[in-house]
Amino acid sequence: MCIFCKIVRDEIPSNRVHENDDFLAFHDINPKAPIHILIIPKAHTASFATADAKTLEGLSLFTQEVARLMGIDQSGYRVITNIGEDGGQEVAHLHYHLLGGAKLRFGHFTDANTKDNF
Ligand code: AMP
Ligand code: ZN
Repeated sequence: MCIFCKIVRDEIPSNRVHENDDFLAFHDINPKAPIHILIIPKAHTASFATADAKTLEGLSLFTQEVARLMGIDQSGYRVITNIGEDGGQEVAHLHYHLLGGAKLRFGHFTDANTKDNF
């Protein structure tokens, strides 16, 4: 079973910020911004590339909700999802990164936007 499925089942501890029957939001263990939340479907699916429409719709609306809950819906934020090897995906369970709480530099989350890095 994957690490995020274990987090859903509370077999691995996490710092939860919000959940409903289908989705869960918890703090990233290695934050890249003052607010860095991971948002996942509770049912396992490998990535954005394999997720069905209902999952993507629900996950996106749930992400809006978490942004409001964290108080960053007015100041702005960034949503990222990494896909596969070139996308830098480390955990093969679909997740959105919600980043905010500061003025994020373009490419803050990855340096792959600079011409020296690809
Ligand atoms: P990605 O590279 O898009 O697959 O992102 C995986 C993210 O999961 C990274 O930002 C990690 O810091 C985070 N992460 C890994 N293990 C845990 C954990 N046990 N609790 C919270 N976040 C985690
Ligand atoms: Zn999983």
